[in-house]
This record gives sequence, structure tokens and C-alpha cells, in this order.
Amino acid sequence: DSAAPPNFIRHIIKEDIAGGRYDGRVVTRFPPEPNGYLHIGHAKSICLNFGLAKEFGGVCHMRFDDTNPAREETEYVDSILEDVRWLGFSWGEHLYYASDYFERLYDFAVRLIEMGKAYVDSLSPDEIREYRGTLTSPGKESPYRNRSVAENLDLFQRMRAGEFEDGAHVLRAKIDMSEPNIIMRDPALFRIRKVGHHRTGDTWCIYPMYDFTHCLSDSIEGITHSICTLEFENNRELYDWVLDTLAVYHPQQIEFARLNLSYTVLSKRKLIQLVSEGHVSGWDDPRMPTISGLRRRGYTSAAIRNFCERIGVARRDSMVDIALLEYSIREDLNRRAPRMMAVLRPLRIVIENYPEGEVEALEFINNPEDPAAGTRKVPFSRELYIEQEDFMENPPKKFFRLAPGREVRLRYAYFITCTEVVKDDAGRIVELRCTYDPATKGGDAPDGRKVKGTLHWVSAAHAVPAEVRLYDTLFTLENPAECEDFRSCLNPDSLKVLTDCRVEPDLADALPETGFQFERTGYFCADRDSRPGRPVFNRTVTLRDTWAK
Ligand code: ATP
Ligand code: MG
Ligand code: MG
Repeated sequence: DSAAPPNFIRHIIKEDIAGGRYDGRVVTRFPPEPNGYLHIGHAKSICLNFGLAKEFGGVCHMRFDDTNPAREETEYVDSILEDVRWLGFSWGEHLYYASDYFERLYDFAVRLIEMGKAYVDSLSPDEIREYRGTLTSPGKESPYRNRSVAENLDLFQRMRAGEFEDGAHVLRAKIDMSEPNIIMRDPALFRIRKVGHHRTGDTWCIYPMYDFTHCLSDSIEGITHSICTLEFENNRELYDWVLDTLAVYHPQQIEFARLNLSYTVLSKRKLIQLVSEGHVSGWDDPRMPTISGLRRRGYTSAAIRNFCERIGVARRDSMVDIALLEYSIREDLNRRAPRMMAVLRPLRIVIENYPEGEVEALEFINNPEDPAAGTRKVPFSRELYIEQEDFMENPPKKFFRLAPGREVRLRYAYFITCTEVVKDDAGRIVELRCTYDPATKGGDAPDGRKVKGTLHWVSAAHAVPAEVRLYDTLFTLENPAECEDFRSCLNPDSLKVLTDCRVEPDLADALPETGFQFERTGYFCADRDSRPGRPVFNRTVTLRDTWAK
């Protein structure tokens, strides 16, 4: 597809297949740590790994990188599986947990000790850090580095048996303390951590480190292309060292640029802070860049997949404009969302020459982009609500909506003319008196006279009271990471709640996450906070497109 944005990994895989590497197999994996909810950055990785596997007739493994028990929970495992499924991908029988490999990883570690390639170090964590050196100075060898194989085997076995406290010993690879790549200066492989694990319980009190676990998990599962983000570029040397030293099957690690999105943060640590400090209502707050937040906000999985395809895959870090994400959901909802009428800030109007007690069912086209969506009936009566902002008592020149003495069209209904403005004692407009022209039924005048404004409306007696939540970006700065404390550029107006809205009757029982276009107002979806007779809607995105194509 020449129109598709560049994806350099696709080319690597094509060449591997053409060259007969890995016997033409393609096995990728998505390896989240279950220590938080997935965000839109993860969606990029999910679309990439599952997408490439699908494209080349391979498989993508769903693997939990659950080696850090202190921060991991089953709640996160469940939410991650739900989100990947919702995004439209399936792993079939290929669901794996790094924790299932603990015993094999232990055995691999023993093999390294036997080869003289690993040792138990008894320096304190602070000393280890100090001995590691810096970018400009070489590290120093630990005095425990030359323990005998027998002593190392004994100590490692006793680490496992729980004889020592956290931090007393650590198993390290024996590589080279003067390596320019600091990661290669005798990295830790196993550490003591007396914490229960969400899957293995109290079976283990030593846990393998990420760099040791990840490459071996890839190897055990027969992964061909191990795709990760650029910050792991320096770790590739260790990935290769472990697999080469143990002489086991060796996948290739390929790094790509992580997604950065303007006006938000995509770091789990920061997202956790937003949740735990109460800056948002939870992981699925519709302002969050999490998959669950976007879903609750009204994003569809198709829009997110299209977005991920559009941004492409490169090796250079960049910032993606959030307007592109919004463009993707607008494009999708424009195609599939029914057009409905909802009045966010109601102003009552009374049509004085319309018979009292009469109700007409007017026909509305559900979606002009989709004839198959059909039509529906909307009740019209003498008393209606329109938007407050659609009326001005003293309108400026360019205001084409309702004003005293002016005629406008009510969508799919009639032309009306404002004849009187009713105010309360404080001088606030509380009601408009109007007349209608019965000959304009459907929205056109038989005499050919034109009106400039078309307003949406709801019938006062039939409309359903609703709450509408208007969202704006969570941060005021394009790159919140530039703030000394990212919380100091939180947008105080990221949520505006309107509690006195009126929506047409068909919206009363809208199901959560189902998208609508509220005519002239934006795209919305019902929220799960909806109650019978009182739906709650989230604004997914405004109608106006700010994305320059
Ligand atoms: P964070 O940096 O937000 O804490 P993480 O990288 O620690 O995320 P993991 O659970 O380890 O989170 O991520 C699982 C996979 O998703 C990894 O392969 C990681 O590279 C990828 N990933 C995470 N964040 C992004 C992002 N912003 N863009 C693309 N891929 C990402
Ligand atoms: Mg990680
Ligand atoms: Mg990370």
C-alpha cells in the first residue's frame, strides 16, 4: 500500500521472509507489565505487534512481564486483556506470563554460574551503584566477583531458600566493569524480594530482572521479531549477550520510537499519580489517555487503530498532535453516528399559534452519510427548548440565528418568528414567544423564501433531562513533561458539567459508549453513570476539525 505511512519494521519482516530467515515464521509479542492500565502509546505497540503478525500470517503472543511483584496486580492483568480484546485483537491460545518461566529462568541462572558467567555479589545496593561508575569513568570490580562456582551455587540456592534479607545479595552477570555501555557492567540477574506475587504467591522470594527475563522469554516462546521502544536500544547488547552466552534460540530485537501525544502524558508512573492523587476520577476518567478512558469518552477501536496506522512507525522520537487523534474519531463517527438533538443550555420557547395539546411526530434522517441508518420520529409541540446561545436580543450583523422579529428554521420542522421576549424581575430572558408558519412543514417555504439560520430543538414535554460532561485537554501545555512538575500544568477547565440539559426522547436509554452526533454541538456518547430517566453524556470530540490534512 503506497499510501500507507512508512513502517520500517514491515520492511525488515518482508526481507526476513524473502531471505528465508526464521523459516519464514513471524512471531511477535506484546509484553506489558501489569502495573497499570494501558494507554494510547500501548495501543501503538499492540497495533504494531498484532497487526504485523496478522499481515504476515504469523501469531502475536500476549505476554505479561510480571517479574516485579511489588507493583503488579490482577486488576491490571484483567484490564489489559479486556483492552487488547476491545481493540480488536486476539491471542488465541498464546497467553503467557513471565512468572511461568521463573523455574526455567532460575535454571538458566545456575547454568551461567556454572559457566563462570555469573556470581553472587554481597555489596550493598548503594555500593553497587557507586562501583558501577559513570559514562565517563569505568566501573570497579566487586570484591565478591571472584567467588568460586561452588560458593556462588551455594549462595544462590540459599537466596532462593529465603535465608537472606532483601538487598543482602544479588546475582550478577560477570561481563566487564569497564564496558562503555553501563548496562553491560555486570548487570543484576536475580534479586531478593520478599514480596508475595499475584500469581506465584509465596513460592519465590528471588525474582529475575527485566533484562534477564525478557530475552529468555522471547527465546522460550520462539519469538522472531521482538519489537520494543527506543529506550531499550542500549539493552539490546545485554539481550544478545544472555542469549549468545547460553547458546539458546535468538530472536532479533528491533526498536521503534514510542508515541508521544501533545497535551497529555503517556507514562504509567505519571498516570498512576493522576489517579492516586485524585486529579482524575480513575483510570477510565474520560480525560485520561488510557484505552479505558478513551473508550468511556466515546472513542471507537476502529478510530484508534486508524490513528495508529496513520502515525506510522519510525526510529526517531516525535510528538504527535492530539488533533490527529481527534480527526480519527471524527472521521469514524461521521460515518456511523446517528444525528440527534440535544439542547445543552435550554431556553424555553412557546409557539403561540400552534394548537395547545397537539403533538406531531416529525420524520428525521438518522445519518445523511449512511442511508441504511433510516429515519426516526421526533415529537414536536407548542413548547420547545432551543439553545440559549441561538438567541440574541440585540444581534450583531453576522448573527443569523433567532432574534426579535427574525425568522429561522427549526430543523426538519417549521419556520418560526420570534414575537416577544419574556424576562424575569432581574431582567434575565426566561422565555420567547414565537409564531410558526404551518406551510413550512419539513423545513422549506413553498413561496421560496429563505432563512439563514437552522436551529436544533427538543419538545419541552417530551425531552429527557440529562447531564452533559464537556471535556478539554487534561494539560494546558503541549508537552507537560517540560513542566518541572507535570501536575502544575493541569488544565483547571478540563471538565465542565452541564446539569440542566434536555435531549430528545430516543436518547433516554442510550447505551454507554454508543456514539451520537448531537446536531451542531459535537459527538457524544452515553456514560455508564446514566440512570433511568436521567442519562449522562460525555463529549467525545467537538465537530470542528483542527487537523490540517
Ligand atoms: P510506561 O513507560 O508508560 O511506564 P512501559 O513501557 O513501562 O510504559 P510496559 O507495560 O512495559 O509499559 O509496555 C508494554 C509495551 O508497550 C512495551 O513493549 C513498550 O515498549 C510499549 N509501549 C509503552 N509505552 C509506549 C508508547 N508510548 N509508545 C509505543 N509503545 C509503548
Ligand atoms: Mg516496561
Ligand atoms: Mg517504561
